[in-house]
Amino acid sequence: MAVIVQKYGGTSVGTPERMRAVAQRVVSTADAGNRVVAVVSAMGDLTDELVDLAVQVDPEPPEREMDMLLATGEQVSIALLAMAIHAAGRRAISFTGPQVGIVTDHGHTKAKILEVRADRVRTALEDGQIVIVAGFQGVTPDGQITTLGRGGSDTTAVAIAAGIDADMCEIYTDVDGVYTADPRIVPGARKITEIAYEPMLELAASGAGVLNLRAVEFARNHGVVIHCRSSFTGEPGTIVREADETMEQAIISGVTCDASEAKITIRDVPDRPGVAAAVFTRMAESNVNVDMIIQNVSEAGSTDISFTVPGTDLVRARRTAEAVVAELGAREWVVDESIAKVSLVGAGMKTHPGIAAQMFRALSEAGVNIDLISTSTIRVTCVVAGDEADVAVRALHDSFGLADGDIVVESIPGCGEGDL
Ligand code: ADP
Ligand code: ASP
Ligand code: MG
Repeated sequence: MAVIVQKYGGTSVGTPERMRAVAQRVVSTADAGNRVVAVVSAMGDLTDELVDLAVQVDPEPPEREMDMLLATGEQVSIALLAMAIHAAGRRAISFTGPQVGIVTDHGHTKAKILEVRADRVRTALEDGQIVIVAGFQGVTPDGQITTLGRGGSDTTAVAIAAGIDADMCEIYTDVDGVYTADPRIVPGARKITEIAYEPMLELAASGAGVLNLRAVEFARNHGVVIHCRSSFTGEPGTIVREADETMEQAIISGVTCDASEAKITIRDVPDRPGVAAAVFTRMAESNVNVDMIIQNVSEAGSTDISFTVPGTDLVRARRTAEAVVAELGAREWVVDESIAKVSLVGAGMKTHPGIAAQMFRALSEAGVNIDLISTSTIRVTCVVAGDEADVAVRALHDSFGLADGDIVVESIPGCGEGDL
């Protein structure tokens, strides 16, 4: 008898009809002789609606109260799914994250899971029940309700799968797998049949929202195999697992886009030692996560410093930039919210020279201006104007031949082995 964890995202449980369809799938998995745990997200856009409500009453809501509010979304879903399964003639029991022992740290709104005390799930499964668990939420050791960050239901599913030693963790969503690019941006993108944890981590970290980054990290650390697939079809999706010699590793795994960051520029900062340290110490003290940084060449004793920050940290970042300008005697600060990070991800970058050069050329031929650049061993990221992001993603997908799986990398004269 296999133990299967299935996670259903917001769109998959967005209406009563879809909730009944999910119940049907869960029931048929159980009828086939499996023990099933279903982890569910809030219905449709409910979490976004709750966030909107919060900021209407308080532009900077206390994070503890935000968690109290957001955790209610998933609680609606678990009760309704348990009812739909009951209506379909099977026994099911729903639990909140705290009830099933998802223990987290105190990082309200982006808490990390410390431990899964899964006894209650095991006991209910042994009793022949289908177990329904609220995604995205947990509890601190002293009883505070927390949430795991947007998209965190995937992490709940993987953590439960690890906690009960499940045979498979299926993430059901509104696409039938992980593609070489978001199929909403690149209609000709190709479904990836199998992908190793490392490239999947880079894809998730750089904007492929189909799987949550923390979920992939958790899966890698605990050896949980993920099957990401559609809740609307029976098609096999994408398997995410440890790489071995049977797995084909693509040179380029995919192209991603992340429009969730904003760029702050501090203009005419006096160019003297300690200035960058002062700017980024203040940002860190305000709990602003700084991502990419660029400092211009200094002119007449002053320089500009630009950096990107998550949109969720922007209120704090603006306040801190204002204070930093006064403290350092800089001219001004400006913010650009309409930027996007476009990334090319692939394990083959380590050994194939010229990939970054080909990326920059493809962007320039598509008329897309590059603002900032950053690289890691298996990723190159360019910040571009937000309204050019889709064009950029399509141009890169095309240039690297990702649609047909026939990856062409031109050799660039003068680039040594291992150079990006
Ligand atoms: P859920 O609510 O089920 O968790 P999400 O909206 O979080 O669903 O994730 C699914 C969405 O991820 C898809 O609708 C798709 O637009 C988007 N997406 C982004 N990048 C990719 C990619 N590389 N492959 C597949 N889907 C992607
Ligand atoms: N409902 C939460 C969100 O919208 C968690 C999730 O769906 O994974 O972010
Ligand atoms: Mg999701």
